[in-house]
Amino acid sequence: MARLYLQNGKERPVLRRHPWIFAGSVDRLDGRARPGDTVEVLSHDGQLLGRAAWSPESQIRARMWSFDADTSIDHAFFKKRVAESVARRQAHPHLRGQDGVRLIHGESDGLPGVIADRFGPVVVVQLTSAGADKWREAIVAGLKQATGCEAVYERSDSEVRKLEGLEPTSGLLDGELPSPLTIIENGVRMEVDVVGGHKTGFYLDQRDNRLLTGQLAAGRSVLNCFCYTGGFSLQALAGGAASVLSIDSSGPALATGARNLALNPSLDASRAEWLEADVFEALRSLRAEGRTFDLIILDPPKFAPSAAHAQRASRAYRDINILGFRLLNPGGILMTYSCSGGIGQELFQSIVASSAVDAGVEARIIHRLSAAADHPIGLAVPEGEYLKGLACQVG
Ligand code: SAH
Repeated sequence: MARLYLQNGKERPVLRRHPWIFAGSVDRLDGRARPGDTVEVLSHDGQLLGRAAWSPESQIRARMWSFDADTSIDHAFFKKRVAESVARRQAHPHLRGQDGVRLIHGESDGLPGVIADRFGPVVVVQLTSAGADKWREAIVAGLKQATGCEAVYERSDSEVRKLEGLEPTSGLLDGELPSPLTIIENGVRMEVDVVGGHKTGFYLDQRDNRLLTGQLAAGRSVLNCFCYTGGFSLQALAGGAASVLSIDSSGPALATGARNLALNPSLDASRAEWLEADVFEALRSLRAEGRTFDLIILDPPKFAPSAAHAQRASRAYRDINILGFRLLNPGGILMTYSCSGGIGQELFQSIVASSAVDAGVEARIIHRLSAAADHPIGLAVPEGEYLKGLACQVG
């Protein structure tokens, strides 16, 4: 096995159990390793710190699989890590009864580059690092054994694979996909398109926040911006919303949203309106028309994938949040999110605060929002905290 020596003084992150070794921390690699091969990680003076997957093409040159001298990285290792990750979900009362659950959340579950989501009988995997790609078979076998699922589908079409020198790849790895595939999330049936949908097919991270939206929506007029397939919209209707206007720029996502509504005959479809539009433009038009709402959801895509994009992204967040605040009735609630890794919680709150000032409203935070429990954040991996949200009520 090749040996990766860290530069003198660069051991600290690894000793604190951060799994990423950046190119600038590597002193040298003794021996040969191909992308994804396991290497031993040593301090500059030769102390064995653990084992990692080698990623020669990436700025993150290696990702730690283990932080001790004794653990071997083999099939049994992946079987155990996958089983432990799945068992943690099964043990959680909020997750146990759910059809749609994230089973593996990458670094925060000790499996860098591995995402696995279960939708009913189907597990979708996304492998985004050279090491995860290399151990595909072991990871899939572990998932099959731990879940007893009927099918495994791969959605490794994320852009980040390019940074690892990996080609995008998608397709069925095992079994057969039911068509259509649906899940029930807190009483609402939703179609999940694991083949053509965004990410793995569905945004599981917002499950708890969709439930809260339903609880806050009773009797309110609701505007759901960036609605995708209508997750927030349907929970709002289930919670007794008076009306729900849902906006997205994706026609197929809206069509799925309308189908989802039809899948739930107990919901009053006459209260729902779907609009294919750019949210930035639509919010301005709604303002020009004098429309107002009691509850507004802003769940935009990632405007800032990294800190380098933070400034431009901040302007985009400000823009929509100012417009959102302006469209609220007195006593109305803005539920506003950022899933940008490059925008931290503090920065996001200050953007929302200045948006309220610019909109001329007084607002207070009534809920701080984050991803659900199946998207844990390893204490050693603060990068795992990408989704942050605020529910703000205006005076
Ligand atoms: N809230 C959703 C997830 C939103 S994902 C849920 O709970 O499932 C972000 C969505 O924003 C995607 O559906 C994407 O199509 C849409 N989108 C991206 N840019 C947009 C824009 N400028 N205007 C309208 N929709 C946009």
